[in-house]
Amino acid sequence: SVPITVVAAIGAASKFGVIIKSGAIFERFGGVRHVAVDKTGTLTRNKPTVTAVLTVDGADVDQVLGWAAALEQHSTHPLATAIAAAAPDTPAAADVTELAGHGIQGVVDGITITVGSPRWLDPGALADRVASLEEQGMTVVIVHRDGEHVGAIGVRDELRPEVPEVVRTLTGQGIGVTMLTGDNVRTAHALAAQAGITDVRAEMRPEDKAAAISELTAVAPAAMIGDGINDAPALAAADIGIAMGATGSDAAIESADVAFTGHDLRLIPRAFDHARRGRRIIN
Ligand code: ADP
Ligand code: MG
Repeated sequence: SVPITVVAAIGAASKFGVIIKSGAIFERFGGVRHVAVDKTGTLTRNKPTVTAVLTVDGADVDQVLGWAAALEQHSTHPLATAIAAAAPDTPAAADVTELAGHGIQGVVDGITITVGSPRWLDPGALADRVASLEEQGMTVVIVHRDGEHVGAIGVRDELRPEVPEVVRTLTGQGIGVTMLTGDNVRTAHALAAQAGITDVRAEMRPEDKAAAISELTAVAPAAMIGDGINDAPALAAADIGIAMGATGSDAAIESADVAFTGHDLRLIPRAFDHARRGRRIIN
């Protein structure tokens, strides 16, 4: 049976928004020495907005945005939502097909338009300016017109304001921090610099994130914090999987050992502190 002090400690944690699923998990939680954190939606607000549009000579900014928006209104990707909201005028599109993890293509006014990652679509003459936007922390998609680069759209998702303080507090607790993200290397490093995180792993697919977690757990007890369905394998691979912003039904919550009911990242060091104190009382 679970000692009464653990029951009390788990009850206290639930009152400040941290759901710990068992007594064994509570005791393991206090031993964690490293946390890996997903970027998009966990460290960032998950409210991406268009903050830059580049075009090649002669192309019109609003027209390029309109072409992209014509396709993106058919997608639910967070980048698509941002682009669809930014266009002043959105023409109709036909034959729209989305390629997950790469981008989207369709026909607008008889022209084939493609929008997607710079890894998938050649940025051509825009390459240097695209890299510069990424270094400022934006995620950039390229727009092709009949297979030729015609523009690029920079989308920014702000860091949650409490992140630098949370990283400093964790460091003070002797807990190492790693950022894991599917985003490109330049954007990832820009956000990590703002956050005060020095260990960054970018361009990771869900299975890459799980492999990175296994490397970390081999060194010291490690937790993973995520929110997306993409993070489920990494949450399962961690000694402690923590799901942010619990709603009850997500795959991320299912695979998690610990769930935070809200999205205040200051709960992370608070929960570690609580679990460590609880451990000292028990042992
Ligand atoms: P993440 O969730 O890390 O952003 P995804 O696998 O969803 O990664 O997408 C990877 C990249 O593919 C995006 O950063 C973007 O460049 C491109 N992409 C995916 N879907 C779209 C879309 N609907 N429109 C434009 N680009 C897209
Ligand atoms: Mg995604």
